[in-house]
Amino acid sequence: MKSYDVAVVGGGIVGGSVLRELTKYKLSVCLLEKESDVAMGQSRANSGIVHAGFDAVPGTLKAKFNVAGNRMMQAYAEELGVKYKNNGSLVVAFSEEELEALSALKARGEANGVPRLQILSVGELREKEPNISDEALGALYAPTGGIVCPYGLTIASIGNAMDNGAELYLDFEAVKIEKSQNGFTVGSADGREIFCKLVINCAGYGSGKIAKLAGDDSVKIGGRRGEYVLLDRESGNFVSHTLFFAPTKLGKGILVSPTVDGNLLLGPTAEEVSENDVSTSAAGIASILEKAKKMCPAVPVYNGITSFAGVRAYSDKHDFIIEESAAVEGLIHCAGVESPGLTAAPAIAEYVVGELVKRRLPLQKNENFCGTRKAEFYFQSLSAEEKNKIIADHPAYGRIVCRCEQITEGEIVRAVRENPPARSVDAVKRRTRAGMGRCQGGFCQPQAAEILARELNIPFEQVRKSGAGSELVTGAVK
Ligand SMILES: Cc1cc2nc3c(=O)[nH]c(=O)nc-3n(C[C@H](O)[C@H](O)[C@H](O)COP(=O)(O)OP(=O)(O)OC[C@H]3O[C@@H](n4cnc5c(N)ncnc54)[C@H](O)[C@@H]3O)c2cc1C
Repeated sequence: MKSYDVAVVGGGIVGGSVLRELTKYKLSVCLLEKESDVAMGQSRANSGIVHAGFDAVPGTLKAKFNVAGNRMMQAYAEELGVKYKNNGSLVVAFSEEELEALSALKARGEANGVPRLQILSVGELREKEPNISDEALGALYAPTGGIVCPYGLTIASIGNAMDNGAELYLDFEAVKIEKSQNGFTVGSADGREIFCKLVINCAGYGSGKIAKLAGDDSVKIGGRRGEYVLLDRESGNFVSHTLFFAPTKLGKGILVSPTVDGNLLLGPTAEEVSENDVSTSAAGIASILEKAKKMCPAVPVYNGITSFAGVRAYSDKHDFIIEESAAVEGLIHCAGVESPGLTAAPAIAEYVVGELVKRRLPLQKNENFCGTRKAEFYFQSLSAEEKNKIIADHPAYGRIVCRCEQITEGEIVRAVRENPPARSVDAVKRRTRAGMGRCQGGFCQPQAAEILARELNIPFEQVRKSGAGSELVTGAVK
């Protein structure tokens, strides 16, 4: 049985950031993920907003880690070669009551340490967002709000951790966590086992179950589904800020926001669910479109290219649970990390390793740690001259496979060869954006599958869309 200092359970943005932070020290670490790829939970399907931090109740962990994570995010994303944009956010009021609520929100943000918050008149709001509804009365402006690609950031964090020595176990659903004097034996559903001194529980919706497996009954997780509609990049400039309605007790409500990749995102809904059900519904989509039109009546909903959903994994404490278990020594929880968990993740990771892990294991700096990724990871943002230089060395970067997103064969090959390696068409899509455009893979999916078959040295019939049982074809017809 292989032995580690630390095993992180859950390959989302929290597990990924913690894993990467661990590799800054001389520790042997691994990540255990139940799915066939990383970034398959909440970190795949969310709004991608780097929240400024005015929403969380002062004094909570959400408030603390949101504001700290917001400050860290630009440098964090840049280091990993992930796109980030500081586009600012606006909470728009549609009634006198909401207008008054903006001042309370501003005071809350200031108490949390959010800088430069400003109440805008309707004229100032319209100047920033000409497509805003005539019914809008004013807004709270947070210049420090931003946008980032959530799964891109997760994949890059885990990839960078692996480049620095972390090991990844996919299809490893932890179903047994046995505590012994020196640590834990963690077993998977398919009978694999690892040993570790510490377990860090970053299992999102599954974090209550992980706690329970280890002998801690205190973590209770509920689910709230959020559905989205994504519009084509043609609509990406329709608004430039992230536009929120005034928050309710169910959350921040539906937003209208550009994504960092240039699409327009509408959603999410908020619906209590009793399981991790990420299906979308006609009713959910209809309610998103209705509310988005209230925010911006001319929103070009005809440019919708896909819908998706994520399930917020919230704790019954309505705050993040970031602590060592009181019941099980050596078990560290990063549980109930609902929104703003994407924003908070780099700050959570620093705290978990620098404070909680440090109490249990000596932290010696890893002098070989390298926090940046190779230049090819930035291919789309390189100048023509830089691209030509890479193409001269690697001609596959000169062949376009995905016409909508202009993704090259070189980028797909790299996605298969680099950490964490892509093993399915959807995994290629999340790493490269091949198939994310208007045709949603109609043209490029077969080509991406061919490249996968060639690179993995497997027959075409074995290439999968996603996990086990999702093979694209059943066999040859001639
Ligand atoms: C609809 C929605 C909108 C959101 N919008 C924003 C936003 O705009 N900004 C923001 O900051 N935050 C946002 N969030 C919150 C953010 O997405 C989460 O806080 C963050 O992704 C949580 O990351 P995580 O790593 O804790 O969980 P996850 O990403 O859910 O990862 C948990 C992982 O654990 C794995 N796992 C579970 N059980 C096991 C097991 N037994 N063994 C092994 N692996 C297991 C899962 O497969 C999963 O990959 C939003 C969330 C949702 C759902």
